[in-house]
Amino acid sequence: MTSDQILAAPESAHPTLRAAVSGLPSYVPGRRASSAERSAGVDIAALASNESHYEPLPAAAAAVAEAAGRMNRYPDMAAVELRERIAGHLGVTAAEVAVGPGSVGVLQQIIAGLCDAGDEVIFAWRSFEAYPILVELAGARAVRIPLDAAEGHDLEAMAEAVTERTKVILLCTPNNPTGVPISHGRLEAFLRSVRSDILVVIDEAYVEYAEAGSGPDSLALYRGYPNVCILRTFSKAYGLAGLRVGYAVAAPEIAEGLRRTAIPFAVTALAQQAAIASLDAAEEMELRVSAVRDERSRMAARLEAQGWTLQPSQGNFLWIRADDGLRGRLVAAFDQAGIMVRAYQGDGIRITVADPASNDRVLQVLETKVLEARA
Ligand code: PMP
Repeated sequence: MTSDQILAAPESAHPTLRAAVSGLPSYVPGRRASSAERSAGVDIAALASNESHYEPLPAAAAAVAEAAGRMNRYPDMAAVELRERIAGHLGVTAAEVAVGPGSVGVLQQIIAGLCDAGDEVIFAWRSFEAYPILVELAGARAVRIPLDAAEGHDLEAMAEAVTERTKVILLCTPNNPTGVPISHGRLEAFLRSVRSDILVVIDEAYVEYAEAGSGPDSLALYRGYPNVCILRTFSKAYGLAGLRVGYAVAAPEIAEGLRRTAIPFAVTALAQQAAIASLDAAEEMELRVSAVRDERSRMAARLEAQGWTLQPSQGNFLWIRADDGLRGRLVAAFDQAGIMVRAYQGDGIRITVADPASNDRVLQVLETKVLEARA
């Protein structure tokens, strides 16, 4: 073949993305400190991504260091040791556990594993931003049900939205970004009303931060309703966001399907070992979580005293509903103060609860804004 023949390819031909992909919103990452800010020693408070502000648990860091010496090897693809440890922790069997690269990775497998093109997935809105992206990517239809006036799930409206195409319902408790949990009684009534061939995913990414009894006993519901799937993560309270490991608890045939659709070796040995060590360090984790809960209460009380209206949050974050005008002013004020928060167009801002000094900076910015508004 001559070079002329190679150049003869039609100019207009080029690879194209599927419409479902080109129509997706681009993920907007939480703002991070720029290298200029870092080198200028600017003290940036990263409160936009609900990460733990604590360094990894010492036992997890030690497990990673130890596993790092075996990086030339693939990890255990079936994650047997980790699945058994999770199963022991929750009182289920390893056959009912599937792990993945973060709970968002597991959720992608759930939707891809259950939905054909045109099937429907119902979720509350606003909720976790990845939900519509994962649903649309799978070629399924996202059915968003507005939150109720108290910033919680409108379960009655969600039940009414079920059609014969509904395959999955996503419930987020406590809800990201509003922090409002779903009570056990309401969730059980919902499960009674929903067809048993619909998978009801209870996303509990922030469950460790919730006060006992504020949300559902999801394991009890799972035992009573085999169409329940519990989704949890090591990214938040356990402080392993950067290692990517989360899991689902589901009926053995669903869990087996998730394991079959997993990207091979997506959960590294470092992540598996760190997750095991973190479960073993439950007491230390609980001390950290309870410090965040105390800070959450302190901040909520101070903000209410300043005049802000808040719904009680059970996550490691606070939610301030704000129209776009107020939202813009708040984001600018936080930005100027070197504090990164998450802004949601048309809805409000979410602020991660962190160490007392960062939280005080947040309180100060919000107090200034109230004083300005009253002036
Ligand atoms: N679910 C909810 C509600 C979340 O807020 C997040 C993270 N922001 C996740 C799942 C995913 O977390 P990860 O993939 O790190 O486990």
